[in-house]
Amino acid sequence: MLKKYFLLLTFLGTVGQVCMAQSYDIVIKGGHVIDPKNNIDAVMDLAIADGKIALVSKDIDPKQGIQVVDAKGMYVTPGLIDIHTHDFYGTQPDHQYEDGNLGISPDGFTFRNGVTTVVDAGSSGWRTFPTFKSQTIDVSKTRVLALLNIVGEGMRGGYEQNVNDMDAKMTALVAKRYRDIVVGIKLAHFEGHDWTPTDRAVEAGTLAGGIPVMIDFGGSNPPLSIEELFIKHLRPGDIFTHCFGQLGSREYLVDLQTNKIKPFVNEARKRGIIFDVGYGGISFAYSQALPAIKEGFFPNSISTDLHVGSMNDAMKDMLTCMTKFLAMGMSLHDVIQASTSNPAKEIKHEELGNLSVGAGADIAILNVREGKFGLFDYTGYKVTTDKKLECELTIRAGNIVYDLDGLATPVYPPKKVSKSKAAALKSETH
Ligand SMILES: [Zn+2]
Repeated sequence: MLKKYFLLLTFLGTVGQVCMAQSYDIVIKGGHVIDPKNNIDAVMDLAIADGKIALVSKDIDPKQGIQVVDAKGMYVTPGLIDIHTHDFYGTQPDHQYEDGNLGISPDGFTFRNGVTTVVDAGSSGWRTFPTFKSQTIDVSKTRVLALLNIVGEGMRGGYEQNVNDMDAKMTALVAKRYRDIVVGIKLAHFEGHDWTPTDRAVEAGTLAGGIPVMIDFGGSNPPLSIEELFIKHLRPGDIFTHCFGQLGSREYLVDLQTNKIKPFVNEARKRGIIFDVGYGGISFAYSQALPAIKEGFFPNSISTDLHVGSMNDAMKDMLTCMTKFLAMGMSLHDVIQASTSNPAKEIKHEELGNLSVGAGADIAILNVREGKFGLFDYTGYKVTTDKKLECELTIRAGNIVYDLDGLATPVYPPKKVSKSKAAALKSETH
């Protein structure tokens, strides 16, 4: 009994010391913080407590942290936000991105890339969203938000051509019911020479309280005019994804005769149309992106269009997409902004994508690896670079969810002893 009592005293003493000495769960030391929303681009320390950013300061005492992360020589950024992904994986035969085998399980691909929030781009529609929610959203550690497809069933292969299942009222109703998760409406892959699907998607967005629409402009013969799309059909804040695509059945941004952005594109941007990368399998071509960037036309947001096909082809992952824009001449600051605060603003969730004190602690720690790297697109055109972004560590809601090299000390946090357990131990000794 005496020995047990002695052990308890030692144990409580240790816990007491921990509580007294350490105010923060994690302290990140010496990293170069890039937080575009707060105009921070400097070497700073950062502290996390109770799942939130507690302090960003020049020098935080490492003794204050239960875990300390040495981020010297690395970049500390808000957790990345990828607003074009396909996460409704499932086992339904021939369902493709809707409960089928072309979607991916987000946690398997996000944290190792510094991504803490994904937006599923229309894999589900109002009929299938509840299944997507229970099957993926509710069980993922990654924050999964969604654009509802204007097609009731979502991206179930050829079913996406079914105009009869494009119900703006039902789509808006379900979007409103799940307003914390559904952040917009999606139109994808429609092949008719017809504006009805676009207009129904916009109507749903308006009925749902003014949430944005993301357009994957499918393809038709002859192609529908994107000038008409930007000026007459979309609202300011609506998102044109696959913005650097170059497919025969779609009109594209750069005129191949002059190698310049078509004049109405800049007008559209002034009107508030958002240009999103949505890299995908065949939806990004250097022949569009390089001349656009040469003119200073950068994407508003960088996103992957992550699915089983794209990730095993030229796209790879979020950091490879970001590396490509670095290699094309975009600054690191602008690349981070296009992957954090910009997409947060586009989906009207400005509480995300920043490192403000009090914000949820979603953080990426990135390393710039030097070497010789080849970055090709689906046409086989290759850009070489000597710098590549790599994810060292990811924090989601204040917890380390990925640590490539064991940067944290200790690597795993000591188990917190609950009050009830301490009380049980105490009663046992009496
Ligand atoms: Zn997509």
